[in-house]
Amino acid sequence: MQTETTRDLPKSGEAYRQAAEAIPGGVNSPVRAALAVGADPAFIARGEGAYLWDVDGNRYIDYVGSWGPLIMGHAHPAVVDAVCAAARNGLSFGAPTPGETELVHAIRDAFPSMQMVRLVSSGTEATMSAIRLARGVTGRDYIVKFEGCYHGHADALLVKAGSGALTMGVPSSAGVPASITATTLVARYNDLDSVRELFAQHGEEIAAVIVEPVAGNMGVVPPVDGFLNGLRDLTEAFGSLLIFDEVMTGFRVSFGGAQEHYGIDPDLTCLGKIIGGGMPLAAFGGKRRYLEQLAPLGPVYQAGTLAGNPVAVAAGLATVRLLRESGVHDAIVKNTTALAHGIRELGERAGVPLRVNQVGAMFSVFFTNQDVRDYESACSSDTDRFARYYRALRAAGVYTAPSQFEALFMSAAHTEADVQHTLACVEGVLAGL
Ligand SMILES: *Cc1c(COP(=O)(O)O)cnc(C)c1O
Repeated sequence: MQTETTRDLPKSGEAYRQAAEAIPGGVNSPVRAALAVGADPAFIARGEGAYLWDVDGNRYIDYVGSWGPLIMGHAHPAVVDAVCAAARNGLSFGAPTPGETELVHAIRDAFPSMQMVRLVSSGTEATMSAIRLARGVTGRDYIVKFEGCYHGHADALLVKAGSGALTMGVPSSAGVPASITATTLVARYNDLDSVRELFAQHGEEIAAVIVEPVAGNMGVVPPVDGFLNGLRDLTEAFGSLLIFDEVMTGFRVSFGGAQEHYGIDPDLTCLGKIIGGGMPLAAFGGKRRYLEQLAPLGPVYQAGTLAGNPVAVAAGLATVRLLRESGVHDAIVKNTTALAHGIRELGERAGVPLRVNQVGAMFSVFFTNQDVRDYESACSSDTDRFARYYRALRAAGVYTAPSQFEALFMSAAHTEADVQHTLACVEGVLAGL
């Protein structure tokens, strides 16, 4: 495919052709393909701070940040040094290392609800394992998830999922037996009544409610007042566990995640993305009495050859240490707020109906004149207009997610000048829509 964005990217175009020969769609995760916005992917040569360079030598201000992990920017020297030092001591042992305990302590300091933590290698594993643990400790089979929330690609959770699954218009995947998803109940995000109905029908059989406390995988959708508290009360009343999937929001919406931001105490929490600092690492944890049910202490099995990998742990620990230095997180949020506010103003001035949802250091631009508060209103967005916006922004040197239904991320490396330059690009692009 030759699209307007890649006509000027001959080397990316060639790399894409070669990749597509041997890798399905030329990519190792579907949304990278940019099919939804009628573009070919830019192949990346390197990243530094707030910037990316493609193989044709073009520079972009990056608001994808590897889909969330890179809150300190690309190739932060302290993170790279930590990775190199760890690598020199050996890449993996399949035996415990002190660094794992250090990282887990850093996580517990930020997330007091996570009394015990187990490290895994991806967000998918974290949510899959948290669900298994919830089922194991309650002896119940049903789980409740929300329309438009994405929790990785484990079978039971690929029902009305967001992100790539939503973008491609496949609400669930082929290859998932109906017998597996039969115990997955789906409620509407920000609609407590829809959850109450499910509990009225199946309350005694529901092991857990899993939720993105700030949804990020249908674009950013904040919880309305009382939604998260309502989930806490309902799950408590029925003896179900409340699982916060903070793979995206952890260390992102605030240092202590959405649970700190909104003051909620979940039973289990899933983390990923930022805690690996760009390396494959994730975690799940929560109340001690539940985590003690995991093997080798208890009957719920969970494992991983590379879980707690020392190089990934070094990257995560270095990232969390940088981020907790005084003022760092506040500065990132300040820049995010300035950008979100600026885009709203530019939309108004250009007469382009849009909504910008922002919580902490994540945001999304929806091309709609409805407030976006759930899956249905997110889908009111004009995705053709979004596709043109995406392509024009990329051509102007601003790299964003190639889907209406994704979050964008600010990093500590983005300066006020980067924000101002981005706004100038957005202004030009909106004028041409
Ligand atoms: C990214 C994400 C996942 C999946 O993590 P992977 O590391 O891609 O498996 C799960 N839940 C949420 C909320 C995410 O944003």
